[in-house]
Amino acid sequence: MKYSSFVVFKPDFESARQRIEDAGGWWVRFGDDVLTYSANDRWSNLESEFSSSQRNARQPTGTIGKAEMYLVVQKGRTFQLEHPDVEVIFDKGRYLVVRLTKAKARKMNKREDVCFHIEPLSENMTVFDTPYTQRSSAAASGAPQAGVVASVQQAVFVSHIEHLVSYTTRLSASSDYAAAADWCRKILAGMGFEVSVESVSLPGGQTSENVIGRKPGTGQGLRGNLVVTAHLDSVNHAGGPSAPAPGADDNASGAAGLLTLAAACVTFRFEHDLTFVLFGGEEQGLHGSQQYVGALDQVARDNILGVLNMDMIGSVNSEPPSVLLEGHAISQSLIAALAQSAADFTTLSVQTSLNPFASDHVPFINAGIPAVLTIEGADSANEAIHTANDTLDRVSPEFALQILRMNAGFVASLAGVSVGMPPADYGGHAVHAPPVSVEAAHMKSDLAFHFNALFAQYARLGRDGLLSQQDYGNWQVSRAAYDDLSAGTVKVGCGCGCGGC
Ligand SMILES: [Zn+2]
Repeated sequence: MKYSSFVVFKPDFESARQRIEDAGGWWVRFGDDVLTYSANDRWSNLESEFSSSQRNARQPTGTIGKAEMYLVVQKGRTFQLEHPDVEVIFDKGRYLVVRLTKAKARKMNKREDVCFHIEPLSENMTVFDTPYTQRSSAAASGAPQAGVVASVQQAVFVSHIEHLVSYTTRLSASSDYAAAADWCRKILAGMGFEVSVESVSLPGGQTSENVIGRKPGTGQGLRGNLVVTAHLDSVNHAGGPSAPAPGADDNASGAAGLLTLAAACVTFRFEHDLTFVLFGGEEQGLHGSQQYVGALDQVARDNILGVLNMDMIGSVNSEPPSVLLEGHAISQSLIAALAQSAADFTTLSVQTSLNPFASDHVPFINAGIPAVLTIEGADSANEAIHTANDTLDRVSPEFALQILRMNAGFVASLAGVSVGMPPADYGGHAVHAPPVSVEAAHMKSDLAFHFNALFAQYARLGRDGLLSQQDYGNWQVSRAAYDDLSAGTVKVGCGCGCGGC
C-alpha cells in the first residue's frame, strides 16, 4: 500500500473523492488535508489525478500495510510523548495516523485514564470538517442572543480562572479539589442558581464531587433542559498526587468559562431550564459525567435539548485561532448551531468532528443524548497539559472569551432567551408584554453588561472578605431589584387596557 497526502479545498472535495475511488484508492479527510492510499500497482494511476502542487509536503509519503494503519485521537500530545518510537505517517495534531500491529494497538489502548484512543483506520471517512458558515441576523446588536453574548465578561473569566489555579492541585479526591468545588458551589449559589453537590465514586474507594447549578426556565408546559458542563479536576501524571497540578488550560479554562457563562445568563430569562455542571473524576476516566448520566431517568434524558461541554478553551495553538466542535451524528444540529454562533459572534475558524473522544460529552453521547465538546483547535500543540507547566501564562483570556461568546450565543438561542418579557402570569391575571423597541433592547443589554460587571466585582470582594455585612446586604437587595426589573415583575404601565398594569 502506498500513501501520500494532498490538499483539497472543500468545494473541490466531491470530485476529488470520485477520482480517488475511480482510481481504486481510498481516502481519509482531515479538513483540507486528504490522506490517500492504494495498492502499489494502482498508485501511479491515483497519483496522476493530483497536481504536484497539491501534494502536502508537510506530511510523509511512503509504503504501509493497510492493516497497520491506526487512527489515534490524543489529548494534547500525550500519545506522542508516551510512545515516541511509534511511526507517525500522518500528523494532524489531535488526530494521527500511525503504524502499529493489532497486538500493540490493543496493549496501548488498555489504560484507565483517557489521554488517547487508538482504533483501526476506516477508509473513506471524514475525521473532521471545516464548515463555511455565513453570518446571520442573530449577530445584529439588539437581537436577544446578542444581549447574552455581550454579557460575557473577560474580567469575570480572569478572576475565576486566577482563583482556580491558586489551588496547588485540583486532583479529584484531594482536599484542594473539595475546597475548589465548594468555592464554585458558593459562586453559583451567589448568582441565584439552585445548587446541589453529588458525590462521585472513584476507583480504589476514593470520592470526588460534581457541582450542579440550575436556573429554571420560564416557559409554560413541558420545558427542555440545556446542560453546560466542564470538568473541574486537574492532574499531574508524572508527578503523582502531591505534585502541583495547576491545570490552567485543562481545565480551569473550561470551569472558569462555565462560571462566566452562568454569570452572563443570570439576568436573562430563558424559556427552557439551564443546568450548569462541574464534574470531578474526569481525568481518572470520566467518572463524574458517567455517574451523572447514569443517575438520570429516561424522562430527564429525553428532556435534555443538548449538552455543551468545555474542556481546554484557553490556549491559542494555531493561526488563525480555531475551535474544534466535536460530537456525533446525533449532535449534528448542535454542531451546526455552534458553527453559526461562531460566525455570528466571533472571528474563530471552526473545525467539526464526529469522533467523540475523551471528555465529558462522551457518556452523554453513549446514552443517546446529543452533546458537543468545544475545545481549542490544534490542542496537541499544547504539551503542558497534565504537567506542572499547565500554568496561567499559557491561557489567553481573549481567546477563551471568543469561545465563550460562541457558546453564549448558542445557549441563548437553544434555551430560548427572551428580552424584556414580563411573566405570562402576574398577580393572578394575564399581563401583556409591552412591545420592546430595538433601542430599548440595546439599552437593556448595555445595562445588563454594566450590572453584571458590578455584580462580579461585588462577588470578588465578598469572596476576598472585603465586604462589610451591610455592603453585602445592599448588594443582595440591589441585585434582587435589578433581577425583578429585568424580569419585568415591576409594574410598568403598558397601556394595553388589561386593568392589571
Ligand atoms: Zn480536560
